[in-house]
Amino acid sequence: MTNCESVDVIVIGAGAAGLFAANTAGKNNRKVKVLDHAKKPGKKILISGGGRCNFTNYYIEPEKYLCKNPHFCKSALSQYTQWEFIGLVDDYNIPYHEKTLGQLFCDDSAKDIVNMLMNECEKSNVSFSFQTEITKVEKCEDGQFYVYTNKQSYKCESLIVATGGLSMPKLGATPFAYKLAEQFGLTVLPTRAGLVPFTLDPVLKELLSEVSGVSTDVTVTTNNMSFAEDMLITHRGLSGPAILQISSYWHPGDQVEVNLLPNKDIEQLITAALIEQPNISIKNYLSTLFAKRFAEKLITLFDIPNVPIKQLNHKQIQALSVNIHAWKIKPSGTEGYRTAEVTIGGIDTDHLSSKTMEVKSVSGLFFIGEAIDVTGWLGGYNFQWAWSSGWVAGQNA
Ligand SMILES: Cc1cc2nc3c(=O)[nH]c(=O)nc-3n(C[C@H](O)[C@H](O)[C@H](O)COP(=O)(O)OP(=O)(O)OC[C@H]3O[C@@H](n4cnc5c(N)ncnc54)[C@H](O)[C@@H]3O)c2cc1C
Repeated sequence: MTNCESVDVIVIGAGAAGLFAANTAGKNNRKVKVLDHAKKPGKKILISGGGRCNFTNYYIEPEKYLCKNPHFCKSALSQYTQWEFIGLVDDYNIPYHEKTLGQLFCDDSAKDIVNMLMNECEKSNVSFSFQTEITKVEKCEDGQFYVYTNKQSYKCESLIVATGGLSMPKLGATPFAYKLAEQFGLTVLPTRAGLVPFTLDPVLKELLSEVSGVSTDVTVTTNNMSFAEDMLITHRGLSGPAILQISSYWHPGDQVEVNLLPNKDIEQLITAALIEQPNISIKNYLSTLFAKRFAEKLITLFDIPNVPIKQLNHKQIQALSVNIHAWKIKPSGTEGYRTAEVTIGGIDTDHLSSKTMEVKSVSGLFFIGEAIDVTGWLGGYNFQWAWSSGWVAGQNA
């Protein structure tokens, strides 16, 4: 074969997981080449966390990951932990802070993380080929993988596939990993968008769009899973951390219950208010609990008569309580992969060693990162999965 470069390890995908796997393998004196169809590395890292990259979380736990096999992520997460990644960030003197719930963000820019990863790759003599389209991959009888591209061919002992999931096609997401997995006889579990805003039926959307921009503390529940965080009303539907989190547990047709006053009891509050300010209108009273324009909207939404609270009968107060504490919404869908932060589902982990990410039936072939059926919560969990799965593959490739 003409123009075929021989290396020890090829990594396809210069995203979070691929860059981490590449520099790890390079540190073990492996000759590593990274191929990516994009012009530059780490595009998702650069836009993540609003440009500040929520790179990990103090409270990484297997329970905060969705996977058909809830035990699968344990080994990688314990072999390369958040503390090791934080140590690396510290070594580079990258300033960061805890925003909330253990979520660590760069003070300045996500570029700091990409620069750090590229610097680590440089130290490990990793080489790169960008704008490279992979046209074919095969494993030959000599045990080597042959990777054909629009530029040249490569052969390698170990092939690490880190091309991610389907979220944000605008940033270059492709189903490459799924197709390659199928080529090697692996099952790909059905995929769907995760960490994604909900869309609403036209009537509710119209009603709520007038209060778009309002953010309120809620607890959202579906399928026995609850998240207590902010919910944001947008002109397209519902978003904000609470909604993004619950969206990963939601399936089309499921109902979502929103508690708009999670740590309070509206019946008790109104009972107290009846003594102190019986003549206050229900609208003005709700304005003491919610943003004013949202309180006004709740009156319409829940069909509450805007009368002085002393005129509300017990049944009306109870109905208000049910609406406020257990507002039932049936999202009409999600915004889909266009805006989803992650892809749920993917390559079935049954085919992979949880210790190394190597395909059990194909020695030398590894799948890492978002391409496999492991999806983290919002809050740095997905990047930690990229670092951890990348590290174990890099150690074993
Ligand atoms: C808007 C947004 C914000 C996010 N914020 C956070 C956050 O703050 N914290 C967090 O933990 N997670 C966050 N995530 C999720 C996180 O970005 C992903 O989970 C993570 O990037 C997955 O890493 P990966 O390496 O598996 O895939 P990716 O980072 O997606 O990398 C895949 C790489 O493969 C390349 N590629 C794809 N197809 C091909 C192909 N056919 N040929 C060659 N190359 C290919 C791509 O160009 C890309 O470089 C966010 C995601 C989005 C979309």
